[in-house]
Amino acid sequence: MQDFELRVPRLIDHAAREHPRREIVSRWADGRETRSDWAGLAADARRLSQALVAMGCRPGDRIATLAMNHAHHLAAWYGAIGMGGIIHTVNPRLFDDQLAFIVADADDRVLLYDRAFQPIVDRMRPQWPSIEHYIVMDGDGADGFRAIVEAQDGAFDWVEGDERDPCMLCYTSGTTGNPRGVLYSHRSSVLHAMAEIQPAVFALETRSVVMPIVPMFHAVGWGLPFAMPMVGTKTVFSAVNEPAILCDLMTRERVTHSAGVPTVWFGMFAHLDAGGQVPADLELVTIGGSAAPRAMVERIMGMGIRVNHAWGMTETSPIGTIGARSPDWDSLSFDQQVDQVAMQGRVPFGVELRIVDPDGRDCPRDGTSAGRLLCRGPWVVKRYFNAGADAIDAEGWFDTGDVAVLHPDGTMQITDRVKDVIKSGGEWISSVELENAAIGCPGVAEAAAIGIPHPRWDERPLLLIVRKPGSDVTADAIAAHLAKHVARWWLPDEIVFVDDLPHTATGKLLKTALRERFRDYQLA
Ligand code: ADP
Repeated sequence: MQDFELRVPRLIDHAAREHPRREIVSRWADGRETRSDWAGLAADARRLSQALVAMGCRPGDRIATLAMNHAHHLAAWYGAIGMGGIIHTVNPRLFDDQLAFIVADADDRVLLYDRAFQPIVDRMRPQWPSIEHYIVMDGDGADGFRAIVEAQDGAFDWVEGDERDPCMLCYTSGTTGNPRGVLYSHRSSVLHAMAEIQPAVFALETRSVVMPIVPMFHAVGWGLPFAMPMVGTKTVFSAVNEPAILCDLMTRERVTHSAGVPTVWFGMFAHLDAGGQVPADLELVTIGGSAAPRAMVERIMGMGIRVNHAWGMTETSPIGTIGARSPDWDSLSFDQQVDQVAMQGRVPFGVELRIVDPDGRDCPRDGTSAGRLLCRGPWVVKRYFNAGADAIDAEGWFDTGDVAVLHPDGTMQITDRVKDVIKSGGEWISSVELENAAIGCPGVAEAAAIGIPHPRWDERPLLLIVRKPGSDVTADAIAAHLAKHVARWWLPDEIVFVDDLPHTATGKLLKTALRERFRDYQLA
């Protein structure tokens, strides 16, 4: 058989050749809407490659973006990778010291950014000495993306190389420490995209109309920027993540597939509660990044929309497991189907999982034995960028830092992160399950459970609740609701109402900050 290097530029070549007129719609921050297609996007990418080379960029250089989702951001990925470079997506919601750290760690040479982030650029510029060129994605001037690509004639051949060459760099958002860089290869990215389009994964095909709400800077935009050209989907981007704008775009462009973190869907629910219309063509919603609460799964499935619940990490490109339906799916009741989707799903071919106890022994796949979740596969990290040692053991297993159980049919269920689990009387209480149960209680907008030191039990749960606007739900009502869903000894010792909860740059609960805030809290 032929050696056919699995290189990322083949993806965009394929889309431009087989699906040239399939549209790419961008709704920009200033309200403008523009339409391009795969042929147009490939042409922009090629001219951007040419421009980057003219600026002095060489294969292996890091090209950074600080941008929301739109066609120019996608073209920047393919343009940087096409000249042999490494695209580095910087998360604009990071704190300044993290922004300084990751640009220095990556040694970025060029930054392509949205005008909306001009204040960040102005503030950070003195701390970003490695960046020689700034390009404004949505700028009209000489340093604007269009002026820069239109100055080139497009006579440029993609840089060839080994499929194991690096093509992309993405940092973890730092929920549990300093951000760490994960360097993806062409091969890992193409294999991941092949897995992602499968029916049991994101179920993408040419007829799909995809709106990725997950930002492209969050864990490879969950892989969609590489998966969509593989099948030539119609693609709908919005640079603004307001529920009313997203719903309107979904309806007008007849979006069938979308993907976002739970916070996004909470926002959509609030919009629908205020009279918004469910987009009529929506078929499949993928939720990941944090556990999708059962009540969320139930509500979306109740609208007749399929829900895929995905687990993954920046370190896993990021798909690890997804809600593949079981053989008996069609004979399950609606409630049983919701129960199944509320778990994190099964692995696609390519990912292998193990659950181990504190001594490193395998836990049985019995649906109850919880342990550390390990994984391995061709799109799982081997060594962090600039790290001195591998992040895996001798057999290739990577410790995810998550605690999970495996069910007999292979379904994986996250119970917590190792650092967030509440250790009470030598046993573990899942903060995630407490939070999910609390969110199912009417009047509760958001919940966070943390362990508070306890003289007898080591730790006991404290539950922090943000009420929905106008709600006066009481601690007793929440406790009564929880008692129906979790073991008695899991019930929080106290329930405290707060105005808001701290989040990470990707919208996850920031438990480290919460534990800090409640460090000296005394349980009654
Ligand atoms: P960070 O670790 O900085 O938050 P990532 O976005 O890579 O950055 O987060 C990966 C982590 O997110 C996983 O290890 C897991 O704890 C959590 N996670 C992702 N998807 C899910 C899910 N569906 N259910 C529960 N937890 C999830």
